[in-house]
Amino acid sequence: MKFLSTRNKAPHVGLGEALVTGLAPDGGLYIPERIPVRDFRGYSSSSYPSLAADVLSPFFEKDPLAAELDAICASAFDFPVPLHTLGTGREVLELFHGPTAAFKDFGARFLARAMEKELERTGRTVTILVATSGDTGGAVAAAFHGCRGISVKVLFPKGRVSARQKRQLTCWGDNISAYEVDGSFDDCQKMVKDAFMDKEVSHGEELSSANSINLGRLLPQMTYYVYAALEFQRKQGEAPLIIVPSGNVGNSCAGYYAMASGAPIARIALAVNANTTIVDYLSSGQYEPRPSVATLANAMDVGAPSNMERLFSLFPTVNEFVSNVSAWSVSDAQIREMIAKVWENDGYVVCPHTATAEYVRQTQFPTGKSMIVSTAHPAKFETVVEPLVNHTVPVPTSLARLLEKKEMYQSIPVDYHLLFE
Ligand SMILES: *Cc1c(COP(=O)(O)O)cnc(C)c1O
Repeated sequence: MKFLSTRNKAPHVGLGEALVTGLAPDGGLYIPERIPVRDFRGYSSSSYPSLAADVLSPFFEKDPLAAELDAICASAFDFPVPLHTLGTGREVLELFHGPTAAFKDFGARFLARAMEKELERTGRTVTILVATSGDTGGAVAAAFHGCRGISVKVLFPKGRVSARQKRQLTCWGDNISAYEVDGSFDDCQKMVKDAFMDKEVSHGEELSSANSINLGRLLPQMTYYVYAALEFQRKQGEAPLIIVPSGNVGNSCAGYYAMASGAPIARIALAVNANTTIVDYLSSGQYEPRPSVATLANAMDVGAPSNMERLFSLFPTVNEFVSNVSAWSVSDAQIREMIAKVWENDGYVVCPHTATAEYVRQTQFPTGKSMIVSTAHPAKFETVVEPLVNHTVPVPTSLARLLEKKEMYQSIPVDYHLLFE
């Protein structure tokens, strides 16, 4: 299969090239030339990794990486992916059982392994630069730790990440370096962009990115939608409505890809926080990206969703977009209300991101069967969650192990040259 740029002004490339470069040279995002469709009636698989390899194999067709796909899936997806029943017809897809307790582990772990194989095959090495406001950097550092041929530089803004998030960024060593930047997240992002533009600064080392626009993070996220839709259908006897907490809309885009590929999904709806760019587009037909506002669901604080170009290429007219995509905004007060309510009524603790999806379910889809996507473990956001549920939320074992490690990082001013000294 070939991969094209959403902006149509770049050469078509194979999968390996799309994974290693991240962004297309015309500034667009790589998308598959078509979404392969299959009939999932009567389909069954022996395990999550084998289902994942089945779902992804058409994208790897004729690519040298195809031979490695089974091994990549087996090693990337070695944790449980449970569908938790909250009440009658109310399911929760728990995507937080990976090493950093958020769904970004799926994409980051798959990308790391695929990129390592591709670089090994082509005899290249790369340096990955990641600017993070919290979650992404941790998942990327964890996933790439120990990968051959790849070094990672993680930049985070001083004083703006939580204590637990900082641990996850700085506990690695070896091929992972962490930089505490005396500036904002936007400064960190600008340093990364400037480093990419400066052809000299990396002393000939190829630079790459691992953020959510990389197709190698998006495609593997399709696999849990297919898996969960089949599981939901088996449990509940029908195809689910799925509600996805969304920021850069990579996760929801993967859901639409899964739906287009034939997975039994009735509808996908988006829950967003006070960043309402998509909700406003749905009501006005005018797409107006804007600066983000800070909320309790901070991994969704996005005013210019980076994967919108992919959604637009899937649903090119306003009419198509509106008939396939629906989205609702949830305020901080409603997030708080929902965390307390789900604990009180269902004895279950949700993180602030997951709470937005449950709020949309309870207010927009109070009857009927549905599934919300739980994007992170509540223990990652203990300062918000614990006062609302009046107890300490136990930290999952894999995350606890990271939090015990020693922090190692350099503090630097806003100057990207210092990343390469
Ligand atoms: C990244 C993230 C999101 C948003 O996902 P997108 O793919 O950017 O829409 C939601 N919840 C959590 C916990 C996240 O880390």
